[in-house]
Amino acid sequence: MELRRFIRDIPDFPKPGIVFKDITPLLLDPAALNFAVESIAGYARPLEVDLVVAAEARGFILGAAVARELGVGFVPARKPGKLPAETVSAEYILEYGVDALEMHADALRDGARVLLHDDLLATGGTARALCELAEGAGAVVAGCAFLVELAFLGGREKLASYDVHTLIAYD
Ligand code: IMP
Repeated sequence: MELRRFIRDIPDFPKPGIVFKDITPLLLDPAALNFAVESIAGYARPLEVDLVVAAEARGFILGAAVARELGVGFVPARKPGKLPAETVSAEYILEYGVDALEMHADALRDGARVLLHDDLLATGGTARALCELAEGAGAVVAGCAFLVELAFLGGREKLASYDVHTLIAYD
């Protein structure tokens, strides 16, 4: 299935000059949604992961569905201050300033094999922070899967030491 036709360009969002890739048309279509979830699960199945770790907020949508499809648990990584129990944190660089992602400190056991997921790979900063969080907790990053990759931003280079899989890439 050609998933690309379910991704819509929104010019000047969230600010002038940015063309935002909107995945909501894909989520709206049952066949496309199913295909996307099954494709990511198909990539991850041979990796024999114990958990899916995904980034707030759009990463939760397919991430949880993939975890269900694989029959494994799901770990949410959230913006600071959102998770209620003790957390571990990783910072990452944004175009202007820094941000951070947090995970519950007891979410990952030592040696757990994880699939990292986010909706979109841009510069790779978010995904790198996810990798650091998971590895800092003693987990092994078995693979990283994204629905969309903005290849011209070079995110893959930041993830050079990981196995990266994307369903739709824009050159
Ligand atoms: P990175 O950290 O630069 O790789 O940015 C990736 C993060 O920004 C992901 O969490 C995405 O959800 C979000 N993001 C950046 N650009 C877009 C876009 O065009 N569409 C949807 N999400 C985006």
